[in-house]
Amino acid sequence: MLREIDQPLSIEEVELDELQDDEVLVEIKGAGICHTDMTAIDGTVPLPLPTVLGHEGSGVVAAVGAAVTSVAPGDHVVLSFGHCGECRICSAGRPAYCELFAPLNYFGTRLDGSVTLHGHDHGEDVHGNWFQQSSFASRAIAKATNTVKVPDDVPIELLGPLGCGIQTGAGTVLNVLRAREGEGIAIFGLGGVGLAAVMAAKAVGCAPIVAVDTNPERLALATELGATDVFDPARHRDLVWDVMQIAAPGLDHAFDTVGTGPVVRQCLEVLRSPGHAATVGFQGLENEITIDQGHLMLGRTLSGVIEGDSDPQQLIPELIAMHRAGRFPFDRLIETFPFERINDALAASTAGRVVKPVVVFA
Ligand SMILES: [Zn+2]
Ligand SMILES: [Zn+2]
Repeated sequence: MLREIDQPLSIEEVELDELQDDEVLVEIKGAGICHTDMTAIDGTVPLPLPTVLGHEGSGVVAAVGAAVTSVAPGDHVVLSFGHCGECRICSAGRPAYCELFAPLNYFGTRLDGSVTLHGHDHGEDVHGNWFQQSSFASRAIAKATNTVKVPDDVPIELLGPLGCGIQTGAGTVLNVLRAREGEGIAIFGLGGVGLAAVMAAKAVGCAPIVAVDTNPERLALATELGATDVFDPARHRDLVWDVMQIAAPGLDHAFDTVGTGPVVRQCLEVLRSPGHAATVGFQGLENEITIDQGHLMLGRTLSGVIEGDSDPQQLIPELIAMHRAGRFPFDRLIETFPFERINDALAASTAGRVVKPVVVFA
């Protein structure tokens, strides 16, 4: 539980509320640590406290509300982001841009204002509903809409990251850039999102796959996962020029997972004409950047993307199928930590020691 900004998470006992009709109670087996949890802890994303974070949960359904028919107790499930499932945008199959995305994922309460968690201290209100799950917990209340049934012959405790970070990287390559065999792509920033993009690009047959990061271990891992050319920007005085030496007249796609102005600009500069760049890196609610309009005039597109523009009910089973076929080895990014060591797991992620820490429950 996060009680104060920039403080370690505490492990406390809380009571869960009764399930509402469209809710699902999940016994959590594992929960991945994603950058957005950090932005909540450090106050970049404001949210009500105390709160339970965690938004890459996976586990087994323990109980379902009266109206839930899509999953049943005993089902293995991955929890993804909250979406209403009913608005015009959800109905069009693009739930990442749900009209109720902010209240469903960030406000810490149900839409009716009630909380799902109650502290032992005088029944204190504890904010749950972080991405409709708050899965840094042994049990979590999700909605049927963001609960994705998955096969039970894959290790359930490792599947949580498919619900956010991995889905964001792979979804952006598959759904937004729509990269195809033989097309070139550059991926800037090799965290879980960027490396998932490398794997997706490899799976569809992109070439070349250019990967950019300052961490030599990440560059080596990107190579193992399918990158054909890697660049440490600290070693290149003119990175764009040097990329062009292997990719002239430019790449079909570029993917920014960093979110700073210079990196977004480099994404546009390495594109061929036309070409498509996507930016997913989040640097805070106000983040003004400067790009050259001329780069866009050359038929280039710059897209801002949430959650890979994915429909989790579709993409997550697809990624698991790719994984089973040996074409999407996302488990290579994961290191597990016992839940009691969640603060060590957070520190390992912040320090860049582990790409995707996952806390697991015995
Ligand atoms: Zn919606
Ligand atoms: Zn996330």
